[in-house]
Amino acid sequence: MPGEQIIRLAFFFGVLAVVAVWEVIAPRRILTDSKGRRWFANLTLVAIDTAVVRSLLPVLPVGMALMSQERGWGILNIIMLPTWFKIVMAVVVLDFVIYLQHVLFHFLPALWRLHRMHHTDLDIDVTTGNRFHPVEIVISAGIKLAAVTLIGPPAVAVVAFEVALNATSQFNHGNIRIPEALDRWLRLVVVTPDMHRVHHSVIPRETNSNFGFNLPWWDRLCGTYRSQPELGHNGMSIGLKEFRDPTTLTLPSLLIQPFARK
Ligand SMILES: [Zn+2]
Ligand SMILES: [Zn+2]
Repeated sequence: MPGEQIIRLAFFFGVLAVVAVWEVIAPRRILTDSKGRRWFANLTLVAIDTAVVRSLLPVLPVGMALMSQERGWGILNIIMLPTWFKIVMAVVVLDFVIYLQHVLFHFLPALWRLHRMHHTDLDIDVTTGNRFHPVEIVISAGIKLAAVTLIGPPAVAVVAFEVALNATSQFNHGNIRIPEALDRWLRLVVVTPDMHRVHHSVIPRETNSNFGFNLPWWDRLCGTYRSQPELGHNGMSIGLKEFRDPTTLTLPSLLIQPFARK
């Protein structure tokens, strides 16, 4: 789609910059790990993930939406509905698919080996929102392709969804302080940093809660919602208890981690 790459890049760098500045002005927690190593790993992963997905997949979700529209594939290309309604429906359904996918990545052992890298960050900040193993990103793109083929969403809905997913992922990993009263309202419509931070707790029952990225409703509907960490946002430990040694969390170690014995 014309201008799509510019929109994506503008939102990526725009949200990264705004949240990074916010983290300096109003941090939520004191960070403990080396920011240089974490930021290098997390931001290099964005470039690696993008390159791998683009070189491995013959078509991306937006391209698939355009192709489905031309060929009349997918539910929304068959039924008559106003375009705005199709866009809203597609974004909501795609978000539910990503929620389910996240649950699956936690509970299927082979997928957890890929996803746990996201959870090995010993601090959580804006860059953690981009910390995903390339193989997880390829599988996720495959699931999105299947969902797009089945749903048949307008291409603009797929662009909006993907831009929103990256923007909210960076926002809700932010180490930013939001007044409690505002957070209470905000988390009725979007996953907030305080809500997603619970998901990065070392306590397994907290790790296995709050799977949503964009919309907070799926966790509430499916019984996986946990409002606050037991030990509080400043008392909780971030990460996984099996991966506490920062020297094993360099970029090369992270990339081979799913295939290591541990
Ligand atoms: Zn997770
Ligand atoms: Zn996360």
